[in-house]
Amino acid sequence: MFVLIRYMGKRDIIIAIDGHSSTGKSSFAKEIASRYGLIYVDTGALYRGVTLFALRNGLINEMGVENPEKLHNQLGNVNLKFGQAARGANSELYLNGENIEAQIRSLEVAGKVSIVAAQKPVRDFVDSILKEFGVTGGVVMDGRDIGTVVFPDADLKIFMTADPKVRAMRRYREMVTRGEDANFDEVLKNVVERDFMDENRENAPLRRATDAIFLDNSNMTEEDQMVWIEKIISEKWKSLKKN
Ligand code: C5P
Repeated sequence: MFVLIRYMGKRDIIIAIDGHSSTGKSSFAKEIASRYGLIYVDTGALYRGVTLFALRNGLINEMGVENPEKLHNQLGNVNLKFGQAARGANSELYLNGENIEAQIRSLEVAGKVSIVAAQKPVRDFVDSILKEFGVTGGVVMDGRDIGTVVFPDADLKIFMTADPKVRAMRRYREMVTRGEDANFDEVLKNVVERDFMDENRENAPLRRATDAIFLDNSNMTEEDQMVWIEKIISEKWKSLKKN
């Protein structure tokens, strides 16, 4: 494991990875965290956690959030924590003390999360959790608005995308591997709908930050991506140490 050393007088490095859903952002970010001794923060998991809470409490119906105000008022009862917020470790999400890692990956949660994530009070709630990690830095975060809204001053920003069909196939295979009853067309529909909602919402829409490096991984293996990022991080690191 390589370790990025704290640089004098400043917080540790912050790497922001944004992009479309199912582009492999979290696997990529986890691998970077493990190789460089950083904390990995899955920001989508927090939106999924709020969505699970809303579903369980009957705050979501077919049309979306049934009573936004009720959801906003109940955010005080939502305590979301990552199990092992340690460098290089894999973290699982807990809601009020319960491990919800499996439940938040269901198609039911995936089908509603973009509607919940579009709510401003929900975004403010999640942002306040995320900003805590920025105080010391030493993190790699993946999401939709990390390089544009949460950490506009991140040291390194990556914007990831891939062909929607390639992304849907990856998610479909993951679900089949987990033994879930998956349907490719439904998964593809969910991928396309989430892209649309994430890019067109009023609050913190998915955008490529002007200073983000673009990565289309449609035809890349995970190892190809690591070779690509290691070069970028080593260049970035040299320039950070100089300044
Ligand atoms: O990354 P993941 O697919 O788990 O994210 C779930 C959803 O949470 C996304 O489709 C998006 O609507 C929302 N999200 C967001 N901002 C983030 C991370 C996720 O709006 N930073």
